[in-house]
Amino acid sequence: MSDVANRPTNFIRQIIDADLASGKHHSVQTRFPPEPNGYLHIGHAKSICLNFGIAEDYQGQCNLRFDDTNPEKENVEFVESIQRDVNWLGFQWSGAVRYSSDYFEQLYGYAVELINKGLAYVCFLNAEQMREYRGNLTQPGKPSPYRDTSPAENLALFEKMRAGGFKEGECSLRAKIDMASSFICMRDPVIYRIKFAHHHQTGDNWCIYPMYDFTHCISDALEGITHSLCTLEFQDNRRLYDWILDNITIPCHPQQIEFSRLNLEFAVMSKRKLQTLVEQQLVSGWDDPRMPTIAGLRRRGYTPSAIREFAKRIGITKQDNVIEMSALEACIREDLDATAPRAMAVLDPIKVTITNYPADKLEWLTAPNHPKEDMGERKLPFGRELYIDRADFREEANKKYKRLVLGGDVRLRNAYVIHADEVIKNEQGEVVALNCTYLPETLGENPADGRKVRGVIHWVEQSQALPAEFRVYDRLFSVANPAAEEDFISTVNPNSLVVKHGFAEPSLQTAVAEKAYQFEREGYYCADNKDSKPTKLVFNRTVGLRDSWGKDEE
Ligand code: ATP
Ligand code: MG
Repeated sequence: MSDVANRPTNFIRQIIDADLASGKHHSVQTRFPPEPNGYLHIGHAKSICLNFGIAEDYQGQCNLRFDDTNPEKENVEFVESIQRDVNWLGFQWSGAVRYSSDYFEQLYGYAVELINKGLAYVCFLNAEQMREYRGNLTQPGKPSPYRDTSPAENLALFEKMRAGGFKEGECSLRAKIDMASSFICMRDPVIYRIKFAHHHQTGDNWCIYPMYDFTHCISDALEGITHSLCTLEFQDNRRLYDWILDNITIPCHPQQIEFSRLNLEFAVMSKRKLQTLVEQQLVSGWDDPRMPTIAGLRRRGYTPSAIREFAKRIGITKQDNVIEMSALEACIREDLDATAPRAMAVLDPIKVTITNYPADKLEWLTAPNHPKEDMGERKLPFGRELYIDRADFREEANKKYKRLVLGGDVRLRNAYVIHADEVIKNEQGEVVALNCTYLPETLGENPADGRKVRGVIHWVEQSQALPAEFRVYDRLFSVANPAAEEDFISTVNPNSLVVKHGFAEPSLQTAVAEKAYQFEREGYYCADNKDSKPTKLVFNRTVGLRDSWGKDEE
């Protein structure tokens, strides 16, 4: 099995190829079955790209089905966000959105069929007793005292369950399979439990809800799914999936195939843990740009194509592994390097006065929007007062420092060479401003006197500059595997968000939310889709220019 799993061509597609070649199937029908109990994350994206990608490539169909059997944990906000995220990734499901709850009546009918066949019974053991009776990996379970109730009696009890005649937890419906099975999931699993809970789709119609294992296989079969793709933790449950379909009257029997989940370094992927981060307000919400959710990645400036490319690169296998965060970052960096227009913004400004430039003069220089791609040009104002970044000036520095030094020269990107004449400090000795002179003949030319220009820095002209907030995001956790920690919350990186207040060039006034720019020498940034306003721009850092995690930048 592992041999096949290791092939980069994807063992699931090989199974499908064989099924089509043998005539077992003539077309492919997949589904993506999220539970609406949270927002989708990058792990779900792997499953979405797999299921919808297969449907696309084989001219098949992929359903979107909400697996909604836990009404207390689910809600319509999650239902809506999931649809939005699937569409945003570039996929469209076949037909209408489906819900497992659409099938509640049919599921009830199949449960009755099992009861009539003597293959299901109403059990009054409580949760603790049930655990005790179930046994464990080394000990077989023992039969429930209710195991041999007659079908007629079970039917009456099950009808009473449906009618609200029992309290929550008082009894449940169990499949009668094998209390000695080496697969614990086969030891008479519960298939229906009582819950007096309002359901987001079915309202108060039901007070009994089917369990996932019972619901999923039947929903798949009702929809004519050919290949039911799920993650490895359902490997044992495949026996139950097959047992249920083999024991009811249903014409279709999908094949369940398991693949490994995506695990990503410096991230947690369980919805429960993500929910904890939201509830404890360690992030601003499910769509906080530090979250590994699709909504968070979108808000941060990730593109659908970068996420799809990531899913393609990680591939599909049965091997459990952990993917480096840098692999995800490389995908967005490569995408944006080619597609993001360039612009200039100064995040930590110090003021520069060009003392030999007239106070009343403003000139408009042109700058290309992209160094390689044809994205046109924009106008950049240049005047006497400018901002440069604090980190781009030193009073003294050795030759390796390629920026502005007192008494030295540097080129302003897309503009002139300037010379630093004087530094102005406050009482604490901090640099607050610089007086510089510019070399008028250096627009696109080297200085005629042959003087050495150390490098190129970015800048923004002051009178036209747009005040902006910059949210510099880093990894949300400071350890590679936060989920392995006893208290994953304690490993939240305290510096995962650093807010800076600086200035952006005027062309950024029209920056569209979620659309990334490369701020030259700073990284890729996009306007925030919630907080950025024309009067107060807010930019999120999508990713740095280089992979600099754990390295000190020069
Ligand atoms: P969680 O453990 O976070 O609650 P889940 O698996 O219960 O996640 P579902 O909403 O049931 O979440 O998932 C829908 C589909 O996405 C399932 O088929 C599931 O196997 C798949 N999926 C969930 N997480 C991942 C992951 N990390 N990698 C790949 N597929 C995943
Ligand atoms: Mg699940």
